[in-house]
Amino acid sequence: MGPNVTVNSVLELESRLLSFTAHRNPALKFSRSAFLITIDTEGDNMWAYPKTLTTENAGYLGRFQSLCERYGFKPTYLTDYEMVMCPAYREFARDAIRRGAAEVGMHLHAWNSPPAVPLTANDYQFGPYLIEYPESVMREKVHVLTGLLEEHFQMTPVSHRAGRWAFNEIYARILVEHGYRVDCSVAPSVSYRKNPGNPTGVGGTDYTQFPALPYFLNLQNIREAGDSTLLELPVTIMDLRPSWAKRIPTGSLPGRLVNRLRPSVAWLRPTGKNLKAMLRVVRSAVHEQRPCVEFMLHSSEFMPGGSPTFSTEREIDLLYAHLDELFAESSRFFAGATLAEFRDAVVPQEESPADSHS
Ligand SMILES: [Zn+2]
Repeated sequence: MGPNVTVNSVLELESRLLSFTAHRNPALKFSRSAFLITIDTEGDNMWAYPKTLTTENAGYLGRFQSLCERYGFKPTYLTDYEMVMCPAYREFARDAIRRGAAEVGMHLHAWNSPPAVPLTANDYQFGPYLIEYPESVMREKVHVLTGLLEEHFQMTPVSHRAGRWAFNEIYARILVEHGYRVDCSVAPSVSYRKNPGNPTGVGGTDYTQFPALPYFLNLQNIREAGDSTLLELPVTIMDLRPSWAKRIPTGSLPGRLVNRLRPSVAWLRPTGKNLKAMLRVVRSAVHEQRPCVEFMLHSSEFMPGGSPTFSTEREIDLLYAHLDELFAESSRFFAGATLAEFRDAVVPQEESPADSHS
């Protein structure tokens, strides 16, 4: 399978997604493309690799949920182990699920998700990737966390994002075994190779050659579209540089200067400094007629000091001012959907992607 096959399959899926969003699911009113909100729902300030995990940020999610609801948007809370075990979060998420206002999926940080299996000299310091563990341990960790989500939320989780964006074919197959139907671990055009997990490992996943648009995963090669039941919904990351800037080699001195003035990739992820870039991403997606865009943030980023990005009350208020403007603009073009709702609109439950080609 050469790269052309991949591109064709992605384009084919793209047109399928467009026609499905437009016509196939009137119940969901997908007359417009979808604004997908993914929240990595995890303990406070995981960037500091704390030895003792706290989950105070659960108390700050209500404000974000209310903002989403004001614009008809439905967050998907990709939830990790310590948050499943947090009563305040469970109460919040159960209420949102009951009202049909959100979805709970899985997010897995390998080093603290049971069963505990030491991998490095200090797993809490290195934060090894799940894909660095033996396959049997990977499977067991996915199995246990899936079971906890089922037990505490009385539903079968179908959506997933890997901890620290580390994903591979084995992981994808384990997700399918456990009934997952959507993955959103792909960060197009970004490489995590230089971010070590296990210090003796090869680093994180390199997504530089991955598709930016939704595709059903090939379980033998997750970079390519295939006929599995697992829909990949990459987080929205765009290269917004003008074409002249794209021609300058990134490693060169002029390339580095340009990159400082105009960063080469723009995420649909607030930093407190990137409202304009996020609005440009949304408008470009509208212009390209994308079937969806995918926003991401961490639950801890809604709490002052819960992340390195937003330390103070003032910075949180600025974050909300940016979110308000981004959501107001986006709601003119996009309809809200959870990841599972979007997937079901693309391919109804009873139809598999393999069937739909015939
Ligand atoms: Zn995480």
